[in-house]
Parts: sequence; C-alpha cells; structure tokens
Amino acid sequence: MSARVLVVDDVLHNVKLLEAKLSSEYFEVLTAMNGIDALEIIEKEQPDIILLDVMMPGMDGFEVCRRLKANPVSAHIPVIMVTALDQPKDRLTGLEAGADDFLTKPIQDLPLFARVRSLVRLKVLMDELRVRNSTGKALSNNGHFESNPSIKLDDAKVLVIEDYERVARRIAGYLEGVTSSIDIDDVSNGAISTENLEQYDLFIISLSLRDVDGLRLCSSIRSNESTRHTPVLILIDDGDEERLIQAMDIGVTDYVNRPIDGNELVVRVKAQIRHKRFADYLRGNMKKNMEMAVTDAVTNLYNRHFLDAHLENIFSPENEKGANVSLLMLDIDLFKLVNDTYGHASGDEVLLEFSKRIFNNLRSIDLAARYGGEEFVVVMPDTDADFALYIAERLRKTISDKPFEISGSAEPISITVSIGVSIVNEGCDTKEKLLSEADKALYKAKESGRNKVCGIKCI
Ligand code: GH3
Ligand code: MG
Ligand code: MG
Repeated sequence: MSARVLVVDDVLHNVKLLEAKLSSEYFEVLTAMNGIDALEIIEKEQPDIILLDVMMPGMDGFEVCRRLKANPVSAHIPVIMVTALDQPKDRLTGLEAGADDFLTKPIQDLPLFARVRSLVRLKVLMDELRVRNSTGKALSNNGHFESNPSIKLDDAKVLVIEDYERVARRIAGYLEGVTSSIDIDDVSNGAISTENLEQYDLFIISLSLRDVDGLRLCSSIRSNESTRHTPVLILIDDGDEERLIQAMDIGVTDYVNRPIDGNELVVRVKAQIRHKRFADYLRGNMKKNMEMAVTDAVTNLYNRHFLDAHLENIFSPENEKGANVSLLMLDIDLFKLVNDTYGHASGDEVLLEFSKRIFNNLRSIDLAARYGGEEFVVVMPDTDADFALYIAERLRKTISDKPFEISGSAEPISITVSIGVSIVNEGCDTKEKLLSEADKALYKAKESGRNKVCGIKCI
C-alpha cells in the first residue's frame, strides 16, 4: 500500500529524517517547512496523509490543521500531529483542531508506520465510498449525500474484551458518558460469549489475555461478515512491537499502550466510532441511491433504465435462457379521462394501486417495470405463448374486476387495461423486436375495443 505523505516541520533535520524513513517504506514524500507553504501544497497536490509539526514559527500546526479541516477540498485528508513528549495537553488541542492522530517526538519507526498505514487504509476506503456515493447520487439524480453529516456518538456501544476485572472496570470508567453502553466480556470459557456482536460500534481487545490469544480474536472479528467493518482497538504492552505489527497486518484499526492513559483512550475511542459511523452513513446512502436509481418514484416498480439493462441481459450471448421469455406491454385505458375527471393526484393514486395489483399477481422471477406514463412492461422468463396469454388475462381481470378506491373520489373508479403479448422466438430475437411486437399487439387490443389481451391471438 503506497501513499503520498506530506511532512511539515520547520526544522530541516526533522524533515529529512522523516523523509528518509518514509521513503524507505516506499511512501512518496512531499515536504513543507512552514504553514503557508503546507496549505498551498495540500490544495494543489492532495496528499493522502499529512504529518504536521505543532511548534512552528508564524502559523503553528494547530492553525494549519484548523484551516485545512475547514476547507472542503482538504477536510477529508487525515492529519497526524507531531507533538513534544512533555506537552500532553498539545494532543488534546490537536484533536480539537481536527487532527486524526498524534505521534510524539522523537518519532519511533513502528508507531509512525502503524499510524500512517492505518490512516491511509481508512482514507482509501472513505475515498472509494465517496466516489460511489457521488455515482449513486448522479444515477438517482435526486439522491442525498452530505459530505459532512453530524455524527452522533452518545448512543454508541462498545465491547471491552479483558479478563482482568479491575482493568476492565477502569476502562469502563474512562468511557462513561462518552458512549451509551460499555459491555465487558471476560472470555472465561475460552471465547467471546457476548451475542449479537454486530450491535457494537467498537471492540476494545486486550492482547494480554491469560487463556486466549487476543490476536486470534481480532482476526476472527475481522473475517466475520457481521463485524468486518467494526473498528478494533487493542491494548498492548509498550514495546511489544512484534505483535503490534501482526495486529496492524490483521487489520486492527488502532492501539493504546499500557499503562493506559485515560484521555488518550477516550480520544481514540471517539475517533474510531466517528469513522465507523461515517462509513456506515456512506454505505447506507449508497444502497439507498442505488435503489432509487433503478426504481420509479410514483409506482415503486423498476424504471425504464433498469428494464433496458434487464432486456439487454436476456439477449446477451452468455444467456441461453432467452428462448422462453415472454413480454407483456400494458397500457391503462382512457387514463387521460381519469386525470381530467379526478385530477392528477388521483391519477397518481391509480397508478400506484395499479402497480401493486400487477406486482402482487406475478411470480418473484417475473419483473415489472414502468415503461412510460401509464404504460408498463412485465418480463416473464420460462413462459411460453399460451402461459403468457393466460397470465396477461389474469392481470387484465385483476384490474377490471374491482374498481379502485381513491382518496379524491367518493365513488370507486372503474379502471381497465389493454395488454399486448410478445414471445422470444426465431423471428423476435432482439430487445427492440420484442418490444415492438408487444406494442403492435397492444395496438390491436386497443383497436378491438380496449380491456383486451392480444398476442398471437386476441382474448
Ligand atoms: P388509451 O386508452 O388510448 O391508452 O387512452 P389514454 O387516455 O390512456 O392515453 P393517452 O396517451 O392519451 O393519455 C395518457 C395520459 O396519462 C396522459 C398523461 O397526462 C397521463 N399521465 C402520464 N404520466 C402520468 C403520471 O405520472 N401521473 C398521472 N396522474 N398521469 C400521467
Ligand atoms: Mg392509456
Ligand atoms: Mg399511452
């Protein structure tokens, strides 16, 4: 995993040192020696991550961070603040300024690479979700996506996996008021016994468990479908470098060294939950947008866009099942009259009720779509001519047998539909032909008095 890292520090020696370390791990390195230059480079070069020194003459690191986080062009780029070891207050100020993480000077290799990798991995995921969201939004053209939604943390749930009761209680104490619930699992029977793991926003896992391998737990959480996206923060002994590398490789998202610093834990827990919830928001949005992109808003049936793709698919060379497909084209009779008599809103209600009746009278393998205003198409795989005519007749009756109850009209309204049927066969072997044959049959049904089904013969 490579990435472009911007190193910002006013001391040349520090810049060179970090540049050498990061280059040796195959990161591409950009450098700046003051805040103004840094902001310019960030806007122009869009690095994947920024290592930002706090103490700089002129504009200090906090101010640089505040400015870049306030700019929509750069707000999503993760920032690691580099602070002096004897200034613990700087960490909190940095996080308040919008920093995503911090490292203390002198910078050790392992924490540096662990933090950079973990934030780059997160950024790659977020960038991908962002792109998919804008695609979904463009497709559904009325999709909604906020790049900066307000993320709530106070109803978050955390599971602490720790078998030292005293430590577990202390962690729960630190997190009180930060999250809504903190459950503790002491893995007393050799495994996680807590159920419904998907409800948690974060797992905090000790790597000093007596009878269980904490790394194995991390790995199983990562590979389980329902917890794959849940962040994992490990508690690890200071200096246990080997296992920290393994943990990061498994996909653990963050770590806190023992002895645990309460403030640091709280800050990291908050950041992890915030990231998870933002990713959940993006994923949820994407699903909504994708659904909207293929659904007709008035009737909830598939839209024409989707129908086209589906028909293309049926006639694609790799699909041999094309042979037994039937298509029905339905057009509501004298629908203009409904609008003229009862108003457009009542017309919409009729369209919705009509769609429900059609949908409820089809098999789950059949596909119903709104083709245009008051025209609909049903595609039925594995259906021959006789069966298709039989289904079409059943649909016709479903509409005509029971007048429609509409809120804008005291009397139920009688509605009828005309249906044209076409079948995939040797003479009808393209999508266009299938549609035009159905359209011709529909025209015949209208000609012969409406409320009719026509295909190879008329009913
Ligand atoms: P025919 O039996 O020949 O099909 O007659 P018709 O009145 O149904 O056909 P025509 O094509 O003349 O009129 C269709 C009407 O459908 C006109 C249009 O205003 C109405 N319509 C199209 N889309 C919508 C919609 O989304 N909502 C409502 N309420 N009406 C719609
Ligand atoms: Mg009509
Ligand atoms: Mg029409």
